[in-house]
Amino acid sequence: MGEIKIGIDLGGSKIELIALDEAGGEILRQRVPTPQGDYLATLAAIQRLVEEAWQQLGAETTVGLGTPGAISKASGRLKNSNSTCLNGQPLLQDLENRLHRPLRIANDADCFALSEATDGAAAGAGIVFGVILGTGVGAGVIVNGKPLSGPNAIAGEWGHNPLPWPGGGERPGPACYCGQTGCIETFLSGPGLARSHLKATGLSLSAVAIVENAGHGDQLCENSLQVYEDRLARALAHVINILDPDVIVLGGGLSNCLRLYANVPKLWGRYVFSDRVDTLLVPPKFGDSSGVRGAAWLWGE
Ligand SMILES: [Zn+2]
Repeated sequence: MGEIKIGIDLGGSKIELIALDEAGGEILRQRVPTPQGDYLATLAAIQRLVEEAWQQLGAETTVGLGTPGAISKASGRLKNSNSTCLNGQPLLQDLENRLHRPLRIANDADCFALSEATDGAAAGAGIVFGVILGTGVGAGVIVNGKPLSGPNAIAGEWGHNPLPWPGGGERPGPACYCGQTGCIETFLSGPGLARSHLKATGLSLSAVAIVENAGHGDQLCENSLQVYEDRLARALAHVINILDPDVIVLGGGLSNCLRLYANVPKLWGRYVFSDRVDTLLVPPKFGDSSGVRGAAWLWGE
């Protein structure tokens, strides 16, 4: 049982646990609701999930944890999490004390990217940029199979850079919860697409509905998706110019919009500083499961 790995995805609404065998096969999965606004209850829920899993597996295993936000290298405390009761808390240390073993912890977008780089859509690629296009926008960078982790533990947090090459109506852009305006997240998140469509048409539709309607020939929704694709192309071109990844994998709700994989690479060439662009843009292999799988892979070799 020595090679079994447990991963935990601590989300705003649910805590999910997965156990993977050596080959990445799923042998156990559990989920419980996240105690809302209660740090100690959150710790207790994670402890219970892990201890029950160990009992079922008949062995104590490695445990990796993915969570929104980042662990400050200076203080060991969590920051930038949208589950705000976790911010400022020594989450890693508290869980290690409860479980009596070392844990590994990483940002949830890093876990997504690690999952796809380990045995997913970008398996074997040298440099992988894994993007979450969901309620928010985040990303993780994997280099040679390992998450890139700098002194601030924010590698890949490009969602709060400004949208590059802005056009007429894009500046200053929507206000962002981070305190800035015109962040990439305010344009490329699901709510960002919905807001942009509302501004252009006066019609209030969810991102999912916009994608669906465009597929059925709705011209207004089609226009909004074309604008979205050009914005995504610009935002990713900026990344390609800096990082030059082999593969960009999309995750989050908008990664289900399959036309992005064909259309965006047709648009990013004019923004990338290269005569040709060989970067691959691909959908995720594991979809919603990538976050929790990547948490388990934090203990990969
Ligand atoms: Zn922002």
